[in-house]
Amino acid sequence: MAASNLYFVPEYPGFADGHALPPRSRLFALEPISVGTAAAEGMTSYVIRLAGAYSINPRRLILQEFAKLSPGLAKYRRHGLFFQTEARSINGLHQHSQSFSDAVEKLCGIRNAKNLTLLNLQGLLPFNGPGLIAAHPRWCPACYREWIDFRWDAYHPLAWSFDLYRVCPKHGTTLLDRCPCCNEYQHVIPRVPVLGFCCHCGTWLGQGKAEDRSRDDTDIWLATAIEDIVAELPALSALAIRDHFVSQLNQAIDHFAGGSRRRFCIEIGLPANTLQPWLSGNQKPTLPRWLTIAYGLAVSPVEFLKMDFVPGKSQGTLRKLNQQFKPRFKRPTLTKVQREAIEAELRKEALCGDGSVPVATIAEKHGLARTYLRVLWPDLCQTIRDARRAKLMTLAKEEQLRKYQIVREIVDSFLGQGIYPSRRILSAALDKIGISYADPEIRRIHKQRLTANGIAIS
Ligand SMILES: [Zn+2]
Ligand SMILES: [Zn+2]
Repeated sequence: MAASNLYFVPEYPGFADGHALPPRSRLFALEPISVGTAAAEGMTSYVIRLAGAYSINPRRLILQEFAKLSPGLAKYRRHGLFFQTEARSINGLHQHSQSFSDAVEKLCGIRNAKNLTLLNLQGLLPFNGPGLIAAHPRWCPACYREWIDFRWDAYHPLAWSFDLYRVCPKHGTTLLDRCPCCNEYQHVIPRVPVLGFCCHCGTWLGQGKAEDRSRDDTDIWLATAIEDIVAELPALSALAIRDHFVSQLNQAIDHFAGGSRRRFCIEIGLPANTLQPWLSGNQKPTLPRWLTIAYGLAVSPVEFLKMDFVPGKSQGTLRKLNQQFKPRFKRPTLTKVQREAIEAELRKEALCGDGSVPVATIAEKHGLARTYLRVLWPDLCQTIRDARRAKLMTLAKEEQLRKYQIVREIVDSFLGQGIYPSRRILSAALDKIGISYADPEIRRIHKQRLTANGIAIS
């Protein structure tokens, strides 16, 4: 039907393209809370509130609606542990984070549902790195009390999911993870679609008494830094990239420590060889390391990615972290069958020896921390790590040779066009393709190409 025939119907934007109604979503298009701010909502909280809009069990919503789009979720029908603890990875960088984001976008018709997870950080952080997602849901009782005073619905900010977010910066109190009445941990996806009440005994969780930590500067800084990451998440996918992080880090080392990695590490309180795997290999930094570097430079983690290091400007001073941001791992109880299955998998990988599957992937598959596997099967893990390290070194070497070849080609191309490839021009050209001029070997190749072409170096 042509829009012009609808003269009796009030004007509506949906008619412009010839459709009588704008597209409908299968489920209610619930608005996520405070996306783009420090208080942005997490995916698990969104799904629980969505189930609340229909007054149904959130687990049923996932198994009946989400599983249609992500059939892999159907296997959790009889797997209570997934909803109790393992589903915490939905808020992080796990494959479930992607499945849930896709499902929410399709089912609820909202855009950029990945902003309810940490998916925008997947170019920078490893999916199962330490310090990322806490083992159990945590909450600030003072925040709960405040929301109920304003008659706002309780929800869980994404920042509360981080293992390193231990204090609410607004109230200066420790986050709790056990019910003040029955002392139980809370389920990540409860059976009842209500947040703020214990999923075991129904106690109001806003009544818990939390320890005052308002004087703990490091924990407050940490929580504020994580809130900063959360607030900037929607725009972070372009910045949170390993190569950009490495380039910023190289410039910071040049600027603050005269190019000495060792001095830089010691001055900010990191072990002296910490930076080696990122600067010379393909490894991604972990969240605690990213935070430690930002703390050392006295900037927020996002500011570190945006920093402009002006060459020749006076050096600033670094500050030392007086404690390591150590994540706290939970030791799960494994059944004999589970232990045997994990051991068989580790043994198979160790015998294969091609280094294609890291211990971390096997640990993630079984919902465990890799350190846990290292404690239980140290020899097997060491064999796999050695093979993996050898493979990564080969890959890094190949990548390095590829980069050096590109540099040679760029210098020759400038010379072919009659342009003098000065340090500034080459550095700008390399920046565009994510190669840092700070690498001494690249500087050497630059000089060598100029000399080979009989050009004096200016
Ligand atoms: Zn609070
Ligand atoms: Zn309870």
